Amino acid sequence: MRITDGSGYVGDASVISDLNNIGLLTAALDTVSEAVLVAEPYPQLSIVYANAAFYSLTGYAAAEVIGRRLTILQGSGTPGNWLDIFSGGSPVPVEITNYRKDGTPFQSQWTIRAWPSEGDTEYLVAVQQDVTHLRALEHQHMQLELLTRMQELVSTAGLDLAILRRKVAEVMLEATGAEAAAVEEAEGDEMVYTATSGKARAVEGLRLPIDASLSGTCYREQKPIFCPDVYQDQRVDHKAASAAGFRSGLLVPLLHQGHCFGALKAYSNRPRAFRRDQLELLEMASQVLAASLHDARRFKREQDQRTLLVDALPILISFIDKEYRYREINAAYSRWFNIEPDEIIGRTVADVVGQKAFGDIRQYMITAMAGERVRFEMTVPYSRGGPRPVEADYIPVKDSDGAVMGFYALVRDLTELRTAERDHLTQAYNRRGFDRRLKTSFATARRYQRPLSLLFLDIDRFKPVNDQCGHDVGDKILRRVVRLLMWHARESDIVCRWGGEEFAILAPETNLVDAMELAERLRQTVAAEVASPLGPITISIGVVELLAEESRKQFLRRADRALYQAKEKGRDRVETFSGA
Ligand code: GH3
Ligand code: MG
Ligand code: MG
Repeated sequence: MRITDGSGYVGDASVISDLNNIGLLTAALDTVSEAVLVAEPYPQLSIVYANAAFYSLTGYAAAEVIGRRLTILQGSGTPGNWLDIFSGGSPVPVEITNYRKDGTPFQSQWTIRAWPSEGDTEYLVAVQQDVTHLRALEHQHMQLELLTRMQELVSTAGLDLAILRRKVAEVMLEATGAEAAAVEEAEGDEMVYTATSGKARAVEGLRLPIDASLSGTCYREQKPIFCPDVYQDQRVDHKAASAAGFRSGLLVPLLHQGHCFGALKAYSNRPRAFRRDQLELLEMASQVLAASLHDARRFKREQDQRTLLVDALPILISFIDKEYRYREINAAYSRWFNIEPDEIIGRTVADVVGQKAFGDIRQYMITAMAGERVRFEMTVPYSRGGPRPVEADYIPVKDSDGAVMGFYALVRDLTELRTAERDHLTQAYNRRGFDRRLKTSFATARRYQRPLSLLFLDIDRFKPVNDQCGHDVGDKILRRVVRLLMWHARESDIVCRWGGEEFAILAPETNLVDAMELAERLRQTVAAEVASPLGPITISIGVVELLAEESRKQFLRRADRALYQAKEKGRDRVETFSGA
């Protein structure tokens, strides 16, 4: 026969009647894995029955439990009001820490029912489950998850030190449930709050002596600190701690490869806000965080050093991205244009240098953006007045896929170099400027088998002019002659004051016939247009064209010989020399 109670099917009548046999019932209860307790609610929750699972869980024997109060299960970790969960019964599971006979704690989950379910409660039936292991597993899982998340977070933060520090502070707050968290780094004999989160934000940047702070101790001793209550901690200045809202906290050193550079701190204004296992978690996490922070710190240090170097260089350095916007400029750049970096970063080149100048350099920029290195010379306006000659190098920067991200523009002021290569009196190239250009022209002529000619010029009988009319008159004549030489030569010709009243003109892409013609024109012009109080000024000119296999030295010597012949043959004339 099937029997039911108010809630439904209960069982077979014959079995139920057998179950009325208390022996069978307790035997059944002894087979379940959950601990079952029956207690009398009045007068003080004393235990009247416990099953075998209860004894094996707690280590007590029946004689030690029956008739005793439930308080035998409580200890320092059990909340004071835990017995309230029994009043009236609570079918919702409640989890607390209970203690075995030997004093060891376990996580206990209670489900309690009043019996009878209606009317005055005569008994409380409590089913208790040890969930310690389950919780430990859950905890481990959570820790793993948290550590994975931290790793993920620091790897996406990259090497930007400020961002990384802030993220670390935020992660700590989240991981510990603290009210405040801080990254503190040692600087000299101080600990500096380099990043903060939660309520610690108010103290970001704060500096405290290493010797007078708990994080200083943590940093110095390179050991984690569990501080349940600052009021009971001799190491802490209570006043300073309470001013910072620090009552309890977790501190772990920032250690990387045996080197400690600071401490992580999570804290609360409540005492005992943290558990010890959280300190372990933070300690584990700090290894990941310290490694990333260490890398970011090193990167920043290198970057600062690089900036220092780049700023010290007398070259204008800027980085232009593919939208033709400035991304970086160095100190020299700022000084040159008398413009602050923040006035220029993010703006387009056209906007900064103006449409006209942009038009001049646009073609070079396009070439650089196509991935090619470019070098060119031009004149650009200078903040302290006047345009100046510069030499620019555009160096494309590519990403790992080979796509051009932009280019570095290196711009050198050539003014001084130019000054050093020019003759003071006449502004013609000096020997140094001439030599540099001769080398390049010589190499080009040789490699591409192009003609190259050289003229040596000397003013005839100049000494008497100087001696009789004075040095000033002589200087004026020298300047006048050079102006005429420059005027009649091509722009690509190099006019040089070789020394005294002697000059050289290097004429690329010019063969002997054309060079002789140029020389003749120069001779006539000077004779016609320059005069001293003693009469017309004339020049003698030696002309040679570079021969195959000839060295630079031989080339110069032949020009000198040609000039010597012009002098020998009576001056005010042009000669060449074909011998060796
Ligand atoms: P020639 O070349 O026809 O043989 O006779 P020269 O009188 O020109 O020959 P020389 O080389 O002996 O004289 C060169 C003179 O040029 C000597 C010096 O008075 C003059 N001179 C050289 N350098 C300068 C200079 O910088 N300024 C002035 N005013 N005169 C100079
Ligand atoms: Mg001379
Ligand atoms: Mg002379």
